[in-house]
Amino acid sequence: MSKELKIYTYASPVLKKKTECLQFIGEEERAFFSSMVEIMHKANGVGLAANQVGVNKQMLVIDIGTGIIKIANPKIIKKAGRVSQEEGCLSLPDIVVKVCRAKDIVVAGINEHNQSVKFDAHDLLARVFQHEVDHLNGKLIIDYAPWHRKLLLKADFSKARKKALRLN
Ligand SMILES: [Zn+2]
Repeated sequence: MSKELKIYTYASPVLKKKTECLQFIGEEERAFFSSMVEIMHKANGVGLAANQVGVNKQMLVIDIGTGIIKIANPKIIKKAGRVSQEEGCLSLPDIVVKVCRAKDIVVAGINEHNQSVKFDAHDLLARVFQHEVDHLNGKLIIDYAPWHRKLLLKADFSKARKKALRLN
């Protein structure tokens, strides 16, 4: 996990795969959490899932400005209310999709010291948690788009990829 990290973008297979549960958080995982926070801040993101940087583990970091959260094996155990709002994603640059999510949630998981943790998350924090847990399940915001928009988005992505191939 010590290799240079980069954020994988749309159509990278690692983004569509379900991530694996962690049995134990050791030094290596703690160092990886720190690298994830660094890359999230560098990219001006408010959340990052491990598979976005190519690591197939249930780990995510969040920072909406109220303190850094590092959590492994996160599970949403309660949901209430519905709010529809536009969202972006570090793995889908320049794309915004309206996503309907729960307004209030409770998330359970373990922290970087292997302790059980629980978060009562509301509004933006609840939205970011749901977005990142989706990532860990191989789900992207494009999956919430209406089918006609999905087709257009996929065409755009394949054009961008061909262009990138030509340039490299
Ligand atoms: Zn995302």
